[in-house]
Amino acid sequence: MFSPSVERRHGARVCIIGGGGSGAALAYDLSLRGLSVLLVEKGEFTSGTTGRHHGQLHSGARYAVGDRAIARECMEETLILRRIVPQAIEYNGGVFVAIGDDEADYAPRFISACLEAGIPAREVSVGQARAWEPVINPEAKRCVWVPDGSFDAYRLPASFMAAAVALGAELRSFTELVAIEREGGRAKSALLRGPGGTEERVQFDYLISATGAWAGRVGALAGLDIAITPAPGAMVAVRGRLSDMVLSRLAPPGDGDILVPQRGLTIIGSTQSRAESPEAIMPGKAEIDFLLKRADELAPGFSSAPFHAAWAAARPLAGKAHSDEEGRAISRDFAVLEHAAQGVEGMATLIGGKATALRIMAEKTANVVCARLGIAEPCRTADYTLPSWRELDRYLHSEPEGVGLS
Ligand SMILES: Cc1cc2nc3c(=O)[nH]c(=O)nc-3n(C[C@H](O)[C@H](O)[C@H](O)COP(=O)(O)OP(=O)(O)OC[C@H]3O[C@@H](n4cnc5c(N)ncnc54)[C@H](O)[C@@H]3O)c2cc1C
Repeated sequence: MFSPSVERRHGARVCIIGGGGSGAALAYDLSLRGLSVLLVEKGEFTSGTTGRHHGQLHSGARYAVGDRAIARECMEETLILRRIVPQAIEYNGGVFVAIGDDEADYAPRFISACLEAGIPAREVSVGQARAWEPVINPEAKRCVWVPDGSFDAYRLPASFMAAAVALGAELRSFTELVAIEREGGRAKSALLRGPGGTEERVQFDYLISATGAWAGRVGALAGLDIAITPAPGAMVAVRGRLSDMVLSRLAPPGDGDILVPQRGLTIIGSTQSRAESPEAIMPGKAEIDFLLKRADELAPGFSSAPFHAAWAAARPLAGKAHSDEEGRAISRDFAVLEHAAQGVEGMATLIGGKATALRIMAEKTANVVCARLGIAEPCRTADYTLPSWRELDRYLHSEPEGVGLS
């Protein structure tokens, strides 16, 4: 049972904008530190990028050659999430597969980078890998096992939200922040528009924008120019669980190089482009054909499996990119931007990162907020097993007191 004690309640009220994974983890972290939390989301919870990503629990192997620090952080967070939120995770393991000679030559560098980052990668024979996953291309030249996994895009953040609610946080969906009001250079209140167009002004001691690819728009409400690039990526799902493990290309990160099993589906992803707006992004036919072709290279026959869906989501890249190449060069790390230096006290923006890193992203952001509010409470989110995501459904769909089924 989830029943951590919150020893001290602080009067401070924090308003979190954005009900994706980042907002969810922040709401839990701050509630556990004894702050009073209101989270608002303009659509359904997880209706932004969080509800539409690939669902890979990154061991960090993908990033190990390019950025050891990010890789190490992913590995550490993977271990924590497997402990605190097992109900949302399938710990299935992953295989990086070399198809071409260049990829085979990349193996030693890849393995040593993983080991340096604390990721226990090990080479296995192609025969062993195909015994695990017969769908792997029989022409594969080398295979490396890594501790990747997959998770449910909704259940993971929903478990964090359920934990926040159990600690007293208030969560409102279909409630949009439409204005940020300041007093003497300090963000003081937010104008919220709820279902049916009702408007309400709420006061806060600190405002956090956890709005992912929308962070530029939300920042502009406070007169801020936030360096962010919405970078859409497409995915295609076919019916049938073609593998139980996550299969990746043994190569530097590129397009169409990861297959993730999700319940009864297998998903190939992704691509990367740029968009002015994160709304209404759709994959084109050429993008879908490209992904199917790439999937067939890893797992021949993928494109013959019954088509299920194709969709896209926007990465919130932490930086301004003027071309697709510049976008690819932007780090996959996250950033906590305090806006006091730009003349807006009492407000921060969390951008970038990965769904796998939601807990540590929230910890670093909550550290900043608590320091500004003069609250000395340590982060304890790695200490408790979270409640089931079903508890969030109970909270959202509970009947008002006194109303019962007759
Ligand atoms: C194609 C693709 C594949 C990916 N695959 C993986 C993967 O396999 N593993 C992994 O770990 N990560 C993956 N990621 C990264 C991951 O999806 C994101 O880093 C993460 O979901 C971002 O979460 P977030 O909460 O910061 O943003 P979001 O989930 O986008 O949440 C922001 C929310 O803010 C809300 N909002 C915006 N403006 C307002 C407003 N004015 N008022 C109220 N609410 C507002 C939006 O509606 C949205 O729901 C992938 C990303 C992409 C694009």
